[in-house]
Amino acid sequence: FAPWEDQDEKPLIRFRDVTKRFGDFTAIDQINLDIYAKEFFALLGPSGCGKTTLMRMLAGFETPTEGVIELAGQDIAPVPPNQRAVNMMFQSYALFPHLSVWENIAFGLKREKKDKGTIETRVSEMLKLTRLEKFARRKPHQISGGQRQRVALARSLAKAPKLLLLDEPLGALDRKLREETQFELMDIQEKTGTTFVIVTHDQEEAMTVASRVAVMDEGKLMQVATPDRIYEAPSSVYVADFIGDVNIIEGKAHQTGDRLQVDWAEGQPALSAKTTDDYSLGQTCYLAIRPEKVAISAERPTGANVLQGEVLDIAYLGNISTYHVKLPTGHVIKAQQANTRRIARRPFTWEDKVWISWSETAAVVLNQ
Ligand code: ATP
Repeated sequence: FAPWEDQDEKPLIRFRDVTKRFGDFTAIDQINLDIYAKEFFALLGPSGCGKTTLMRMLAGFETPTEGVIELAGQDIAPVPPNQRAVNMMFQSYALFPHLSVWENIAFGLKREKKDKGTIETRVSEMLKLTRLEKFARRKPHQISGGQRQRVALARSLAKAPKLLLLDEPLGALDRKLREETQFELMDIQEKTGTTFVIVTHDQEEAMTVASRVAVMDEGKLMQVATPDRIYEAPSSVYVADFIGDVNIIEGKAHQTGDRLQVDWAEGQPALSAKTTDDYSLGQTCYLAIRPEKVAISAERPTGANVLQGEVLDIAYLGNISTYHVKLPTGHVIKAQQANTRRIARRPFTWEDKVWISWSETAAVVLNQ
């Protein structure tokens, strides 16, 4: 299911050249973005990059300074927030403390003056969907944080919005509960078929839940792609660095073609990488190499991109270890190794002389 690859599919949401300024500060800078029905879409970026502003424009709490936002082909600017087929779930959940779980979920439906039977059916469905049947009579203070989060979700979905906006929905939960809840969110999104747009600054969360991720920086979209594309084929050093761990080596192209030779340090052999992009001689380029693609060994391996260094630091993480290897040039390269078998002793230790290497296809060549 990849609606963004289907030529005939119409996007549910379309941002066209959308800019938002607060005074002379540009919070959103000329954004073009399509989001499709049934997507679980994540807006990811550091604090202040404009994620919430983008979402608030969808909800109708802010209006674009320039550009148009369409929902199902209609410009939403004239539509007031409460008449948009959009709902927003806030990080604080904003549950009514004096109302029961049942009444909290029913609140929006009652306000819309739906008949009693419809409300009862819908609330029951929502309780079932979020596994809250047993807690229907309790008040928010009589349930756990995770359960409160589910009440907020049930309440936001009760009116069957086309689009649900989730602003850091799991921010208040501890790590373990957060991880469990991510899978629940994915399950609920799939069952209801509602389009979810989630705002998060947690890259692991975005990568776990989302069908596509938009990485933002300073009001701009840096890359919009599936999680695996973002990780395997980042479009810039910024994105590569923002998502997961990465080694970045700056250099100059000295031989071009499908195999780029990159000069990167005095007296060192050029590094070799495969790319389909064109680089001119002497052009600055960056090699982005994930630590798990860097092999570490005691014996000199054969092949391209072999460098010698010394173990500076070791981070043991149980399933994997990350070695920081210092090269004579001063560069520190991270190499990760899976701890697959029980290791009686560490394979490498501090100050060991080691070889690191990576294949020609392991590095992503970037020009920015
Ligand atoms: P966070 O993760 O911290 O919530 P964010 O990516 O959601 O950050 P936004 O809340 O969208 O960021 O804010 C983007 C920028 O716009 C920030 O620099 C913020 O200070 C500014 N901003 C947001 N709302 C207003 C406002 N009403 N008036 C002036 N500046 C604003």
